[in-house]
Amino acid sequence: MDAKELIKIVKDVIDYLSPLQTPTEQSIYNYLLRWSYLENGKNQVQVGDRTLAKEVSKPAKGKLSKSKGLAPSTVSDCIRDLAKKGHVDIIEINRNGKIYKVKLPSEVEESLKLKNEKNGDLKKEPLEDYFTDPERRKIIFERDKWLCHYCGDKVTDKNATLDHLNPQSKGGKHNKDNLKTCCLVCNSIKSGKTYEEAAPFLLKSIREKKQKQI
Ligand SMILES: [Zn+2]
Repeated sequence: MDAKELIKIVKDVIDYLSPLQTPTEQSIYNYLLRWSYLENGKNQVQVGDRTLAKEVSKPAKGKLSKSKGLAPSTVSDCIRDLAKKGHVDIIEINRNGKIYKVKLPSEVEESLKLKNEKNGDLKKEPLEDYFTDPERRKIIFERDKWLCHYCGDKVTDKNATLDHLNPQSKGGKHNKDNLKTCCLVCNSIKSGKTYEEAAPFLLKSIREKKQKQI
């Protein structure tokens, strides 16, 4: 197991396993993870309830604590709950303590579910719509200094339009980067086409406009 894999495991534990654990369960799980995967890349560790109780309830360094720490029975209860949730397996009990198999987030069904939910939420987040909302359209016009993106003509709030650089028919969205200020003439030419498709027609129109001005 290389460092990259370990970093991924630790991130997944923090993001998708810890939220399913009580603070005491977290301390116990982290201790077991520390002395299995993070110590030697193995999925097993042997430790007794008493040692575990002492180790996970050490007072923070520099702090005076009168707390006697966790009772071994509390540790036993937490371990039972962790085993029930499938975050650890107790594979052997002997006089030196218990041998645990530490499960990774990828092996815990509830954790995988949480990961899917969180990633799904990110994907579902709606894109900002700068096309339909008049106030937001104005932000694009201001950004483009009220000039047509294609011919450079000045536009006003009476005749300014927004062009989808990548057309809606080809999956173009209403987001800032895909919207350009456009005059009516250029928009009627560019409409429904990609820039590459529309370029010859846009150039022809601009040339004609210039000739008229001369
Ligand atoms: Zn134009």
